[in-house]
Amino acid sequence: MVCHILESYLNGQWTAGTGDGQQYVDAATGEALGAVSSVGLDLAAAVHYARTVGVAAVQALTFHERATILRNIGKLLLEDDVKSPLYELSAKTGATAKDSWIDIDGGAGVLLSYASKARKELPNGHVIVDGPFEPLSRDGSFGAVHIRTPRAGVAVQINAYNFAVWGMLEKFAPSFLAGLPSIVKPAPQTAFLTEAAVRVIIDSGLLPDGALQLICGEPGDLLDHLDGQDSVAFTGSAATGAVIKAHPNLVAKSVHVTTEADSINSAILAPSASPGTSEFDLFVSEVVSEMTTKAGQKCTAIRRAFVPSEHLDIASTSLTDALGSVVLGNPAGKATDMGCLVDDAQRERVRASIAELATAAEVLTGGADLDDDRIIGADGTAGAFVAPTLLRATDASANVIHSVEAFGPVATLIPYTSIDEAIELVARGDGSLVASVYGSDVDEIASLARGIASHHGRVFVADETMAKASTGHGSPLPNLTHGGPGRAGGGEELGGMRSVYSHMQRTAIQGSPAMLTAITGEYITGTPTIDKGHPFKLNFDELAVGDSLTTESRVVTNDDIAHFADFTGDTFYAHMDEEAAARSPIFGGIVAHGYLVLSFAAGLFVDPPEGPVLANYGIDRCRFATPTRAGDEIHVVLTCKRKTQLDGRGYGEVAWDTKVINQDGEVAAVYDVLTMVANAPGVNGAPA
Ligand code: NAP
Repeated sequence: MVCHILESYLNGQWTAGTGDGQQYVDAATGEALGAVSSVGLDLAAAVHYARTVGVAAVQALTFHERATILRNIGKLLLEDDVKSPLYELSAKTGATAKDSWIDIDGGAGVLLSYASKARKELPNGHVIVDGPFEPLSRDGSFGAVHIRTPRAGVAVQINAYNFAVWGMLEKFAPSFLAGLPSIVKPAPQTAFLTEAAVRVIIDSGLLPDGALQLICGEPGDLLDHLDGQDSVAFTGSAATGAVIKAHPNLVAKSVHVTTEADSINSAILAPSASPGTSEFDLFVSEVVSEMTTKAGQKCTAIRRAFVPSEHLDIASTSLTDALGSVVLGNPAGKATDMGCLVDDAQRERVRASIAELATAAEVLTGGADLDDDRIIGADGTAGAFVAPTLLRATDASANVIHSVEAFGPVATLIPYTSIDEAIELVARGDGSLVASVYGSDVDEIASLARGIASHHGRVFVADETMAKASTGHGSPLPNLTHGGPGRAGGGEELGGMRSVYSHMQRTAIQGSPAMLTAITGEYITGTPTIDKGHPFKLNFDELAVGDSLTTESRVVTNDDIAHFADFTGDTFYAHMDEEAAARSPIFGGIVAHGYLVLSFAAGLFVDPPEGPVLANYGIDRCRFATPTRAGDEIHVVLTCKRKTQLDGRGYGEVAWDTKVINQDGEVAAVYDVLTMVANAPGVNGAPA
């Protein structure tokens, strides 16, 4: 029987591959739903389309414009009439409503989170300046800066089947923000859900042409067409990850490859978290939640639960009891706690893994066979159901316990006798995405967390004080690193702007300050400045990087210092006690307060009448470079360093390079003053 072939979105149009394709099914009923195939699709043309149309369109946008698009897509995906059909499809992957919330709402949340962080942390331009100016000559006429620009290629994203929406969006958000178009290849089992989400995004018209393409089907010759400007981000099994990393073309062309592979994640109950403590209860509920959410098909799920040997029996009973009350059934059912695996093939893999684990562990509850009566509202033979399965290691050091990933609702309890032994056993997982530690004894927790950190991308420390606010062991968060060393793939995704930077080339640019200012768009000391009168009288649109003011000067007196000390209460000896100040190896006599110098500087550069400068919202990078003493005469050089337009608010951020200079030309203080400056009337939402 030839099934309906799911369409791909390539070269700006929806198109289906040919042949029988690979079938996908309703996980809970086994009913065939359709098939995926990329046979006959021109993947070389798709790469070319991304590199030409996609790169040009995405890189024409500023970081903030890309962020706004991500925010709008995120909001769209959360609209009820968009979300409901996605939830219906998601149930066919075996997901309960709670699982779908993690995948769909969680995916939209990643977009919203990246959009918000990008507007705060990235400039509203096309280039990121990475680190300070590096002077390379004594006279300051030659130096360097590092910049980051987006690679001129495509981000290929190959995803696992388990989070069809989140898995796509968590990779798409940072690569799009960086300026790269994406080609997404979902796994065949759940590509129908990814396809539905992509269709919503494409139909919305929010994305520029070429920003997102979709291959529903096998990867074909896709990887053969990539080069050093492209990247591959893979999520899936360690075995597939190893094949991709060794792909001859990817190796030959030094294509950037990130892999997020399987991971034998751990939960560790600390020695003093005995039964009866909140932390013991937290451990039990987190292990149960991790085993049953998404039927355990989570890359971050707890596979190994380490327990002090003296608590092993009670932990076994507590977990077995809790797992016994999990309602297993039709994923669409309201009362269902746990749905099913994605298909029968996955069920067979999980059963085989349980059998392997059972060579070094006893099954406490669950196992390969499942009583049909336990399944509510579904047929346990047709659907890919597996009981939550808890094993208890009979040999804690057996290799199988630390190397077999049963990608389903399966975990193994492992006893340990000392913190050192726990750390050593956890490391036998050869590198994992996440581990969690439960306890309230700070010394124990610090030893455990430090001891296991090198083998993990994330460590979750749980105690009573954070339990209510906690996001849990299993949730990768957009602002935190997701990825792990060794077996977990050695990759890093998410982590806020860290993952955006991973799509960009860092380049050291050497030259004169003026050229570096022109290239980066940020003022670098030594660039000739522009005097247009007081720059605080210029609105955001009139103001240019390099506009500068040199103020009048003022003499700092002993009375000023004494008055400031008395007025503020800051009577630190260096400002008050001549003899003690003379003994100071740093001051050698009375000096003015640094904050007095800053206050006098403000008094020198501020333009008092109401004007375009709306507010001073802080200072950055402040250093008191040379002490200021009574009798010193200081003035200020204030130069527009960086402008960041804030979309639609009627004003933008302006950072001012500020130097307080004494009568000998020495810099007394250096810092960036941060202000909000109004746009010209009628521009960017400013009143006309
Ligand atoms: P998988 O079989 O490794 O497949 C993952 C993806 O790779 C699929 O899209 C697959 O598509 C594609 N693929 C397979 N061979 C390929 C090749 N030679 N070239 C290019 N692409 C290829 O994994 P899965 O069964 O979907 O997912 C389950 C596994 O993923 C588990 O082991 C789990 O631990 C891991 N996982 C890890 C994370 C993480 O963040 N670390 C997250 C989720 C899941 P085709 O089948 O069409 O080839």
